[in-house]
Amino acid sequence: MGLIVQKFGGTSVKSAESRKAVLNHILKAKAAGNDVVVVVSAMGRRGDPYATDTLIDLLREQGGKINPKTQDLLMSCGEIISACVMATYIEAQGVKAEAMTGFQAGILTTDDFGNADIVNIDPEPIQAKLREGKVVVVAGFQGRTRNNEITTLGRGGSDTTAVVLGGYLKADLVEIYTDVPGIAVTDPRVVPEAQFIPKLSYDETIAMAENGAKVIHPRAVKAAKEFNLQVRVKSTFDESEGTLVGPEASDLTICGISLTKDIAAAKYERGADFTEAELIKLQSISNDKTLYGDSSRQKVILLDEGRKDIGMSLADELKAQVSFLENMSKVTVVYKDTVSSKEVDDRITAILAGEDISVVAKKQFENCCSYIVEEDTAKKSVKAIYKAFFK
Ligand code: ADP
Ligand code: MG
Repeated sequence: MGLIVQKFGGTSVKSAESRKAVLNHILKAKAAGNDVVVVVSAMGRRGDPYATDTLIDLLREQGGKINPKTQDLLMSCGEIISACVMATYIEAQGVKAEAMTGFQAGILTTDDFGNADIVNIDPEPIQAKLREGKVVVVAGFQGRTRNNEITTLGRGGSDTTAVVLGGYLKADLVEIYTDVPGIAVTDPRVVPEAQFIPKLSYDETIAMAENGAKVIHPRAVKAAKEFNLQVRVKSTFDESEGTLVGPEASDLTICGISLTKDIAAAKYERGADFTEAELIKLQSISNDKTLYGDSSRQKVILLDEGRKDIGMSLADELKAQVSFLENMSKVTVVYKDTVSSKEVDDRITAILAGEDISVVAKKQFENCCSYIVEEDTAKKSVKAIYKAFFK
């Protein structure tokens, strides 16, 4: 008996049938004597009537510039609808439940509209409803600023809502329910036979999530580490144990192969390299602050594909001889921090060379190594690395 936070993603709450599976997990946790706080995402994906992207399209159709505050206010409705539907469904089973917006649940955020960070949660409003014996269903992905404006937390934000709520409510466990049975070595959409991992450390999961394993949001894992909270990632649609993310590391040498698409690489013409000032300017528009190196150790900066044009005009302004390589992907291999990173790197370099895949640049970190490859060789790279380590 304790307090459990259960988060259900968009595909889990999408249809009446999937919500039945959701209901089962909630009732089971409640019947076992737990206090249960449920966090829900908006229902479904673009095209579904109340999905986040469908709502944004409503504003886009009006033409003109969208006020970020207005966009957040509208986007927050998707999760609110979902919470109301789920709470009503639970009550229909004779179990007390109540829906709450992020605002009502006391979630205070920064004022970065569209990408706000949770700064504090007042646990009292939720605790009051738990004391009444209710299942509390909180709309994920949202909060309010000090000025009472509604904010959203960015893609994957409901994961963060669940974990940070878990932290402030001193939950015993946070469960992230999704459409796959846990965290796999790599995206099962790329490698269908990818092995699911029973346990992963916070740092292993952060390295995977920051580099494209979108099954859990990196901010959520970082929050779990800060609160020292156990998080279980599992499927809504079966009874398997899923993946436990906690202080203990996996038993694998290589636990993750993550993929980030849609990036552009900025590099100097041969023989020259960025000046300090150029680096600072270009890095300021890069999401990835890292400097990568090519085979001759020249520096490479990564930009989101959508920021390439800004990068190009910046380079022009600075009269820098920079070329921009388009349609790049980043393949990141996460390994145990106790193994020799040189050995891992040598092996991966050989695997990629064996497939005739050219590496534009790479970089080693404490527990992972990233390889920049052309987008049309990215999946092939992931598959080859998986096969070499997991055959
Ligand atoms: P939700 O709506 O439940 O939050 P997401 O779509 O955000 O679900 O995350 C689940 C998806 O993440 C899976 O369908 C899977 O394709 C993808 N994914 C990417 N990398 C991994 C990985 N390493 N392990 C498991 N799933 C992954
Ligand atoms: Mg998600």
